[in-house]
Amino acid sequence: MNDNSVIIIGGGIAGLAAGIYGQMNGYKTSIFEMHNLPGGLCTSWQRKGYTFDGCIHWLVGTNPASSSHLMWEELGALKDAAIVDHEAFITVKAPDGKTFTMYNDIDRLEKHMLDLAPQDEAVIKDLCGAVRKLGSLDMPLDDAKGLGARIKGLIKMSPMISISRKYGKTSVKDFARRFKNPFMRTVWEFMYDMPDFPLMGVITTMAWMNRKDAGYPIGGSLPFSQSIEKRYKDLGGEIQYNARVEKILVENERAVGIRLTDGREFRAARVISAADGFSTINHMLEGKFQDPKLQEYYRKGEIFEPLVMVSLGVNRDLSAYPPTTVNILDTPIVIAGEEKKYIQVKHYCYDPTLSPKGKSVVMAMFSSTYDYWKKLAEDPERYDAEKKQAALTVISTINKFIPGFEKDVEVVDVATPLTTERYTGNWQGSFEGWRLTTENLMQVFTGGLPHTLPGLKNFYMVGQWVEPGGGLPTAGMSGRNIFKRICKEDGKEFKTTRV
Ligand SMILES: Cc1cc2nc3c(=O)[nH]c(=O)nc-3n(C[C@H](O)[C@H](O)[C@H](O)COP(=O)(O)OP(=O)(O)OC[C@H]3O[C@@H](n4cnc5c(N)ncnc54)[C@H](O)[C@@H]3O)c2cc1C
Repeated sequence: MNDNSVIIIGGGIAGLAAGIYGQMNGYKTSIFEMHNLPGGLCTSWQRKGYTFDGCIHWLVGTNPASSSHLMWEELGALKDAAIVDHEAFITVKAPDGKTFTMYNDIDRLEKHMLDLAPQDEAVIKDLCGAVRKLGSLDMPLDDAKGLGARIKGLIKMSPMISISRKYGKTSVKDFARRFKNPFMRTVWEFMYDMPDFPLMGVITTMAWMNRKDAGYPIGGSLPFSQSIEKRYKDLGGEIQYNARVEKILVENERAVGIRLTDGREFRAARVISAADGFSTINHMLEGKFQDPKLQEYYRKGEIFEPLVMVSLGVNRDLSAYPPTTVNILDTPIVIAGEEKKYIQVKHYCYDPTLSPKGKSVVMAMFSSTYDYWKKLAEDPERYDAEKKQAALTVISTINKFIPGFEKDVEVVDVATPLTTERYTGNWQGSFEGWRLTTENLMQVFTGGLPHTLPGLKNFYMVGQWVEPGGGLPTAGMSGRNIFKRICKEDGKEFKTTRV
């Protein structure tokens, strides 16, 4: 193909990454983003001197020795960013004060678990052994050339394959039931409160944490996205903001361009959608090109449930408290019509850029239901009242654990699934696309869902709606892989550079 122009819909991490790898490989890319900022879900917002972060809790690839870090270097994402590696992933507190700390150091965690539940030695040692085995594994970037390099890559992956064989079909809920100790059973049930969430997902996360490869970049999500946007522009990429795509133009079964909601049309040899999958297929392409596998996913609708996020600016230094605590409640609370048996409270005192000195940002997040908020929004007063009620419930509940908390709250912000949908277009307001289950786990390692649609040429999809499990590294890798594929189609060698 002689024309090397590519239109990319959406300037989230997948869209920006696609743009960067396109520019690196001699393509002329243009990103059209409906919002006025880069990053999509990877964002933050300011309220009266506080910055509320809507995304990064942990970022895989923060260890300079890891392969994922190479990708962030290519994307210019972590240049000059200081990284915080937490001592613990999460702390779980029972109503009687009993506490479990999910230490990131696997030896310390193993000892802690054995102290709490000596009767579960076999289960604990088995789990920690799997984490250690996986911890020595570094997922290669899959750029291997030649048979020898590919075989080496496969050998490197063999611990992952053997652990997947053993645990691949075990959910966290099933695993929790293996503990004889009732507290440990409760802890594991509450920590990953998602139906059929695979234990493999937890083991992998623990391994990343243990090798200090899943830290937090100081500054948080928006500066992270802006660094990637800068890299894209430095490579000559063009991005248009406030540019919402309403239609993908198709002629002779080829994608040939886009039309924006203001009526302007733009043409290119290829079109990549890095926007929400549902609206890409059913609105921008009017449902004319369907893939049965994707249709099945949308029919089942097993998404990471959308969130209600209550963010608070607090006139108090909370750094003495663990950064993330799951407090199991003796009396359940109700948030957005749903009973909640625990509240996860997070503070960001480890990032001094987010709040004025001596003050703290606090966030509580709850999974919620899109339809509940959609219905409420028909009556704006009820919608606002529900948001206020969620904030009041969160504040009064935290007040029970942190006496005097209530009077120190000076800024309140509540985001609902409709907020996520409004700002990013994500289907059902989901924060991470398709939920990982024991059923779809292997798709993560085998290329995800279809990235093209039957009967439509010169069109591709990237991002969390074609990569089950979602997340930032996956979004970046999705953009990377699509240009590997396009280079292959054009008979070109895929090239990358780093900063
Ligand atoms: C609360 C929260 C916490 C998270 N925590 C983590 C974490 O700790 N670690 C981690 O790795 N991941 C985390 N994630 C997940 C991660 O943010 C996402 O998986 C990732 O950012 C998805 O990137 P994406 O580019 O695929 O999609 P998106 O970010 O949704 O990007 C899509 C882009 O397309 C644009 N768009 C949509 N429709 C149109 C249109 N019609 N025209 C033009 N533009 C359009 C949107 O505005 C958006 O910018 C979290 C997400 C949330 C919300």
